[in-house]
Amino acid sequence: MFPKIRIDLKNIRNNAEFLRQKCQEHGVEIAAVTKVVCGNPDIAKELLSAGIPILADSRIQNIVRLRQAGIDAPVMLVRIPMLSEITQLIDHVDYVLVSENTVLQEICKRKGKKTPRFIFMVDVGDLREGVWFETARSEIEKAFKIAGDRLVGLGTNLGCFGGVIPSVENNQRLLDIAKDYKFDIISTGNTASLPLIENGTLPDGVNHFRLGESIMLGTDVTGSRKVPGTTQDTFFIDCEIIECDEKPSIPIGETGRDAFGGSPKFEDKGWRKRIILGIGGQDIDPSGLYPIDEKMKVLHASSDHTIVDVTSCEKSFRIGEMISFRLSYSALLRGMTSQYVFKEFMV
Ligand SMILES: *Cc1c(COP(=O)(O)O)cnc(C)c1O
Repeated sequence: MFPKIRIDLKNIRNNAEFLRQKCQEHGVEIAAVTKVVCGNPDIAKELLSAGIPILADSRIQNIVRLRQAGIDAPVMLVRIPMLSEITQLIDHVDYVLVSENTVLQEICKRKGKKTPRFIFMVDVGDLREGVWFETARSEIEKAFKIAGDRLVGLGTNLGCFGGVIPSVENNQRLLDIAKDYKFDIISTGNTASLPLIENGTLPDGVNHFRLGESIMLGTDVTGSRKVPGTTQDTFFIDCEIIECDEKPSIPIGETGRDAFGGSPKFEDKGWRKRIILGIGGQDIDPSGLYPIDEKMKVLHASSDHTIVDVTSCEKSFRIGEMISFRLSYSALLRGMTSQYVFKEFMV
């Protein structure tokens, strides 16, 4: 059944192994983030077999999925928790990123199968989660009063809202706070932090990264680059051709908005060869479909149809044929989440 995501477990494991080793050489341990694959247990097992010591996910449902598949490795919750998910959290999660002492207090009050440890998040400039760095100390001191020695780390996240690039300077902002306390874990990185490892400038004291995209896709969207030493041949999506035709490049008639309220722009390139694929916005983020045949150009997608210009391709196309793409992070996220997209492991 199609569309179908094909998953190359071996290449994912190779990426995990490579990045684990590379980071280890710089004193950094990594947690592998499985949120983009919805906590898929087969992929998680592959990561563990690559020597990754700890898994991480943003969603408690994904963590429960890992547990139900028999995975008992330590797991970190990387989205600061909702009060309403604490009941599940205390039964399944080993490490939690927190930024609100109210939430910390609620978790510490409760007893479950686990005794979660905490990494307190500080915002050093990206403006997503974390207490603001200039006023962090008073919050951290309150957190120690609440959690005691269960508060084991300090963390930050960059490159996600503000798109702020991890740097020596913003990492140092966290270390300046950390030096006044005793923390075992200083967790600054996601994939966007890897350049600091590659060029050897990561400040001493940082010892933990949380990596998702670089392991799963071998890419770094914040730095818009491929991560050196990794492969991008990890996930492919096959989509079926449902129409092949030739049409003008400009619509005929007065135009309003498209299906999603956008205002598409058209350039007159004369008559074009196009194919329509049975995939759309309900399955993937169409802007993140990268054709394997680079002569193809994705023109547009509505909920269920994706139109691809194939005028420059040498070959001809027929109904029922499959067209393959690599995926961006956002397209993979939506594809793995969509119940309409089938998943298959490559052997
Ligand atoms: C998603 C996430 C990560 C992983 O980021 P990648 O860019 O996929 O490596 C790390 N930390 C937090 C808090 C996250 O939400």
